[in-house]
Amino acid sequence: MLRRILTPLLIALSTLSLTLVGTTATAAAESAERSQALRQTTLYYDSGQAAEYIDDVSAAVDVWNASVDNVRLEPAPAGQRAEIRIIADDGWPRAHLGPVRPGGQVTVWMGRQGTAEGHDPVRIAAHELGHSLGLPDTKPGPCSSLMSGSTGGVDCTNAEPNAAERARVEAYYGSGAAGQRAADGRVVVDRV
Ligand SMILES: [Zn+2]
Repeated sequence: MLRRILTPLLIALSTLSLTLVGTTATAAAESAERSQALRQTTLYYDSGQAAEYIDDVSAAVDVWNASVDNVRLEPAPAGQRAEIRIIADDGWPRAHLGPVRPGGQVTVWMGRQGTAEGHDPVRIAAHELGHSLGLPDTKPGPCSSLMSGSTGGVDCTNAEPNAAERARVEAYYGSGAAGQRAADGRVVVDRV
């Protein structure tokens, strides 16, 4: 009699525990996915006014997206406010100093005086986007440094941030104290 009651009960209990294990594993995977999504900040950019520099800006965006994990730059869909606006004009290349946050807004000016002096437009675009992401100038500096800007030399075509520059941007968009830093907002002018 006891066995007749216990057996179905044990079967029921083991089925329940299997269900619970399955649910827990799925919940853990979903939670990991959510925290990954939370860790990565997406910033939208609008290069609609970048004129002849539009492909250079796109190449510079690809460099940044391949270089860091905590922040990703995406073209702003129609109707979506862009955190980073890129505008071609006749001045010096310049940009607001970030790190810009979702809902904030900074501008990169692809000033034609930089390319007129012979500097590489993809390096200029990547450098100015570096300012948007919070990196200050580190001038003078070698070509291996993106933020050395024009002091890297007129023949310097390196558009990739070095390890220190990548680490600083990762920290600005990471979960640590630097991840809370407000955008500086000053305009940094890259006069040659
Ligand atoms: Zn600069």
